[in-house]
Amino acid sequence: MDAAYKSAYRRIVVVGGGAAGWMAATALATALPGSAVELVESEEIGIIGVGEATFPSIRAFHKILGIDEAEFLRATNGTYKLGIEFCDWRVRGERYFHTFGDFGALAGPQSLWGQHRRLGDAAPGALGEQCLPSVMASQGRFQVPPEQGQFFNYAYHFDAVLYAGFLRTMALRKGVRRTEGRIVDVARRADGGVGQLRLADGRVVEGDLFIDCSGFASLLLGRTLEEPFVDFSHWLPVDRAWACPAERSGTALAPYTRATALEGGWAWRIPLSNRTGHGHVFASRHIDEERALSQLLAQMDAPALAEPRLLRFATGHRARFWVRNVVALGLSSGFLEPLESTSIFLVQSGLGRLIEALLPGTAPDARTLADYNSGMVRQFERVRDFIILHYRLTARRDSALWRTMATMELPDTLAFKIHAWRQTGALHQYGDEGFDATSWLAIHAGMGHWPEHADPALREVAPEAALLGLRQRREGIAAAVAAMPTHDDYLRAVLAQRA
Ligand SMILES: Cc1cc2nc3c(=O)[nH]c(=O)nc-3n(C[C@H](O)[C@H](O)[C@H](O)COP(=O)(O)OP(=O)(O)OC[C@H]3O[C@@H](n4cnc5c(N)ncnc54)[C@H](O)[C@@H]3O)c2cc1C
Repeated sequence: MDAAYKSAYRRIVVVGGGAAGWMAATALATALPGSAVELVESEEIGIIGVGEATFPSIRAFHKILGIDEAEFLRATNGTYKLGIEFCDWRVRGERYFHTFGDFGALAGPQSLWGQHRRLGDAAPGALGEQCLPSVMASQGRFQVPPEQGQFFNYAYHFDAVLYAGFLRTMALRKGVRRTEGRIVDVARRADGGVGQLRLADGRVVEGDLFIDCSGFASLLLGRTLEEPFVDFSHWLPVDRAWACPAERSGTALAPYTRATALEGGWAWRIPLSNRTGHGHVFASRHIDEERALSQLLAQMDAPALAEPRLLRFATGHRARFWVRNVVALGLSSGFLEPLESTSIFLVQSGLGRLIEALLPGTAPDARTLADYNSGMVRQFERVRDFIILHYRLTARRDSALWRTMATMELPDTLAFKIHAWRQTGALHQYGDEGFDATSWLAIHAGMGHWPEHADPALREVAPEAALLGLRQRREGIAAAVAAMPTHDDYLRAVLAQRA
């Protein structure tokens, strides 16, 4: 490790021991062995303990850290996640899947969705039957795809408290030092950065670089450096959630999250191997807390294991994520409502960018910080737009939330994408997208939102050839899925593997 790097950030202090803090500590200790990493957490304050559904990028993160899948699933009561089933989003009674799969060619004469639509009633089955993981999800089947020629992507569900503990054990093995205590004061350096943390018992923790993972408290970036919050609540009005774990229901273990649209928000259902996570995310300006709670309880299909917990949050992010010697990750940097399970993905994205900035061994300059900040802002905005799309395309007008979401003014970036899709069928992608064009297609298709004109290039393929192609793909997928084990059976076999 070169001298300039060491003198810049010899001591890295992570504030907070939730998922974000332990992810940061583990990754930094792995990537920067020349630095001492210390994590300060308060048992008295605890962690938020929700956040049970993830995005496929978590697997790349685990691979870098050398995490064994079976060991991780055992330690966290984890299950596999192929995507999300959206119920009642366009109209009540309808459902669709957004899985991390492939819909073949997305444009031009071979466009799979284009040919499927062109054939109309003659098309074999529903469009979703052309997507392997969507069919797997609908039949409750799962098997890890072969490493070579990945046919689909997948993620996990897990117990958020156990996950933080699992990473903690790993981080401590990698040499991270853990300090338990409540931070009561933060001392600034002459240049305005953070110099020291003072704990309630008088101990002092010093560092060169501080990673603020203090959750919604945003102790360093928000409270100490007073970085303003960029509020997205006019686009994403949900601001509360009731969360409640329940016993595992008698039904088969679904390899997907369910998100059911309700009167003033939506309810999640996340299957873990030992229990089911339930929650209702809602907009307090459209529904009161008691009514939201009763709607959550009505969604639950097994007895509760604890009292429902109310969480309050704001949707948005800090204007900058890295200021002087403070970088915020996780809830302290911002939060987008959990509809697409993107918070842990955003932690990972920030961590990847941070490590890239620190690795050259020289102290990052103003340009590095500016690039980091603009990249993270874009990343949040892209995910924000994707989430808004789910609401925007609704045909529901049965409550104030849905009427507002269907007619509100959109961010320019999203308005352009919707316009491009409607006019030409183009799935426009900007830089720093979290979700690829296939994911955007899954939402448009699921919500029955189609371009106004068919691409003339589709006519280059004879209808019989298009029909044959779709039939063969559908049959191939159906046969492959029929040969797969159920999610329950597959998971049981994985959990039984010896470490
Ligand atoms: C309703 C809801 C649903 C969610 N669902 C998902 C999901 O499905 N998927 C997903 O990816 N994410 C989800 N999230 C987000 C997810 O919960 C978080 O991103 C994740 O848990 C990381 O949290 P964190 O580590 O940033 O904060 P926390 O878990 O809150 O950790 C904060 C840490 O800071 C410490 N701390 C705070 N103040 C002090 C102090 N003064 N002194 C010492 N220590 C201090 C605390 O003790 C704690 O250790 C959801 C969030 C909410 C609100």
